[in-house]
Amino acid sequence: ISDEKRELKDLIEALEVDLIHLQFTDITGITKNVSIMAHQIDKALDGGITFDGSSIDGFVRVEESDMYLMPDIATFTVFPWTSSPREARLICDVYKMDGTPFEGCPRYILKKALKDSEGMGYTMNVGPECEFFLFHTDEFGNPSLEVHDQASYFDLAPMDMGGNARNDISMTLKSMGFKIETSHHEVATGQHEIDFEYADALKTADNIMTFKMVVRIIAQRHGLHATFMAKPLVGISGSGMHLNISLSGENGENVFYDPEDAIELSDKAYAFLGGLLEHARSFTALTNPTVNSYKRLIPGYEAPILVAWSLSNRSPLIRVPAGRGKSTRLELRSPDPSANPYLALAATLKAGLDGIKKNKRPPEPISSNLYHITDEDIETLGMERLPSTLCEAVEAFSLSPLMKEAIGKHAYKRFKEAAMYEWNEYSKYVSKWELDRYLRKF
Ligand code: GLU
Ligand code: MG
Ligand code: MG
Repeated sequence: ISDEKRELKDLIEALEVDLIHLQFTDITGITKNVSIMAHQIDKALDGGITFDGSSIDGFVRVEESDMYLMPDIATFTVFPWTSSPREARLICDVYKMDGTPFEGCPRYILKKALKDSEGMGYTMNVGPECEFFLFHTDEFGNPSLEVHDQASYFDLAPMDMGGNARNDISMTLKSMGFKIETSHHEVATGQHEIDFEYADALKTADNIMTFKMVVRIIAQRHGLHATFMAKPLVGISGSGMHLNISLSGENGENVFYDPEDAIELSDKAYAFLGGLLEHARSFTALTNPTVNSYKRLIPGYEAPILVAWSLSNRSPLIRVPAGRGKSTRLELRSPDPSANPYLALAATLKAGLDGIKKNKRPPEPISSNLYHITDEDIETLGMERLPSTLCEAVEAFSLSPLMKEAIGKHAYKRFKEAAMYEWNEYSKYVSKWELDRYLRKF
């Protein structure tokens, strides 16, 4: 038994953990969970916890279904809101019975993409900004569409349920090892954002999954429902998950920084940016995976619609925030928090690296508000539009050899199937909007 395992077992005993949740993520970005009693930990660490992969969305068919979980010891965390029973969790990688990693496991897909960048001498760092809404729940605990406040951006709302919940969420995350940087009320009523410190991409993807779980659980304990869907309400901002991306080199230096350049960006930063722009339409299905995601990507709500970049304006796809030196980074603004973070990060990393491999040079930055740009200007500038529906996004995704390589043949096929299924289900549905619009008119 290794030191690592010994330490984990000591910790489990010292903290009097009763139950351990073994967690992993399916293709659609949903956390799956099997719980073991603490004394089963040896079995789990030996890969003894098997499950039926055919019952997991986007995994495998019945014939090849047995799989097992391999806990990542570094992800051990106690759930601070539990006491009796005391609960903890381990994030796991999915393996096939022959002992090889399952190629459709999102966490494995990201690890593979990261190997690529390590081969080039880079570590990908990501700082996410997850936005979410808090809604009241009804007497049965079901979510309503009633937000808990009337506040807006940076407002100091009176200590209502939402403010209390947000503080409680931040403190809970802190006690789980998150370095919370800021939390604030967002632009829309009932909308919040909590930002935590950047980390390498794998840690960040794990953190995003943990974050969403904790926000939901703590909100529920305050009688609220937290949602990470992209656009819950018509006519006000949706929720984004901006990704602040940078690469560090072998000595930990920020590869995107170059004090000699006019705007202090390195050639590598420009090339990475160029790669993100080139593949933006293709990775959108992964960063914005629901039908609803595209109702956020419209003019007027600080969400991007065009494939362009700027230094300060918040309407294009990529913004270069003011920080330089260690904090030089690109802010990718299209992703929303319904994305599977493992796949979204694998895809965007691959896109950026492709730009570096090709030594791409992006077009000039845009300084105007793109919500007011004319179709004519879009054409003259040769700007592309982000896909405007899930269907269009899946089409662009399907046509991209880079995306196929980024997430692997297996997940590529399953993701496409799942997304098109979703689109087709949606397309069949007759909405209230259509009835209101057409029932009397025609
Ligand atoms: N909520 C906006 C969005 O949908 C972003 C607001 C911000 O810039 O933080 O992306
Ligand atoms: Mg924000
Ligand atoms: Mg931002």
